[in-house]
Amino acid sequence: MSDARPADDNEVITTDVVIVGAGPCGLFAVFELGLLDIRAHLVDILPKVGGQCAELYPEKPIYDIPGFPIVTGQGLVDNLIEQIKPFSPTFHLGQMIEAVEAIGSAEAPRFRVVTDAGTVFDTKAVVIAAGGGSFQPKKPPIPGIEEYEHGSVFYAVRRMEQFRGREILIIGGGDSALDWTLNLQPIARRVTLMHRRDDFRAAPHSVEQMRALVASGQMDMRLGQVTGLRGENGKLQAAICRGSDNEVFEVACDTMLPFFGLTMKLGPIADWGLNLNENLIPVDTEKFETSTPGIFAIGDINSYPGKLKLILSGFHEAALCAQKVHRYVYPDRRLTFQYTTSSTSLQKKLGVA
Ligand SMILES: Cc1cc2nc3c(=O)[nH]c(=O)nc-3n(C[C@H](O)[C@H](O)[C@H](O)COP(=O)(O)OP(=O)(O)OC[C@H]3O[C@@H](n4cnc5c(N)ncnc54)[C@H](O)[C@@H]3O)c2cc1C
Repeated sequence: MSDARPADDNEVITTDVVIVGAGPCGLFAVFELGLLDIRAHLVDILPKVGGQCAELYPEKPIYDIPGFPIVTGQGLVDNLIEQIKPFSPTFHLGQMIEAVEAIGSAEAPRFRVVTDAGTVFDTKAVVIAAGGGSFQPKKPPIPGIEEYEHGSVFYAVRRMEQFRGREILIIGGGDSALDWTLNLQPIARRVTLMHRRDDFRAAPHSVEQMRALVASGQMDMRLGQVTGLRGENGKLQAAICRGSDNEVFEVACDTMLPFFGLTMKLGPIADWGLNLNENLIPVDTEKFETSTPGIFAIGDINSYPGKLKLILSGFHEAALCAQKVHRYVYPDRRLTFQYTTSSTSLQKKLGVA
């Protein structure tokens, strides 16, 4: 088993498997790989694990996870995290895997995997558990916004420190907008929150905290919409806004953070040289391997005859793909099938024997 952590961001991380996506299927893949002594690094574009379950329906009950008559989206994710703890996976959150390049042979695959944050892996196998693809921000329809996307307009907060001392305009009324308003307010020069109406979808306690900051003069809140931007050379100076009564006004800012929700796009996976079929990755149902040996696809992202986009299907796929990954990681070791309940060596790995 190989797994070297980088001393700094630019060092290459050598590992057995890189898992693209920390949704329920990527998380369970850690467990199935771990039972076979295979160490994994998980990368997800979101700042938290859990994929659709955590991002789209954390409080919705799920009724079709075997052994759980009822569990919420977040409850399932929490249990998966608990279940994979013995295998100490390394998470790289808030990073999108951009490139996967084959650097080995079909018999002994190896891949160089690179994220948009500059993290580089040298891995023996890649398991794509990317669901419907990457969650990407919905951009507001503001003319010329692209000009400011390299230093003034951001759709996610990857590093809070980057925003210290800035004059920030946050747009939106959901949890992301409110959470970042409250988190950035103490370090920003000034924060203004703008929303179309005085009615927020975010958690009520966040809204209360925000209103208290406004009441005590520590931040501003404006009702309206941003219709244009003013600045020079990609540096924002002000947002031009229209209020609910159609009055036009400007909000001075050097940074704008629009939080308009997320949409799912296949994203860079389309450029990795894999066979695709209607934005899904065809796999065989024995190993869940893609058209490239050493790259596997499990969960919502794959397709095969009879596929059901259910969490339990992805769990089954994770177990089978781990068997083939084992052959790449340990070409000289024979794999014998064992139950966790009857194998002392498996129980030792799980910390229960
Ligand atoms: C409202 C709703 C209710 C549902 N209810 C049920 C239910 O009751 N039972 C059930 O079985 N299923 C249900 N589902 C479906 C279930 O959520 C999916 O089948 C499941 O989430 C798929 O898991 P996954 O791990 O394959 O992908 P996802 O959960 O989609 O996770 C994929 C992750 O990959 C990340 N990612 C993608 N591309 C990249 C990249 N290039 N780099 C880094 N990260 C990347 C994404 O950010 C995401 O976090 C429901 C879905 C919805 C929307």
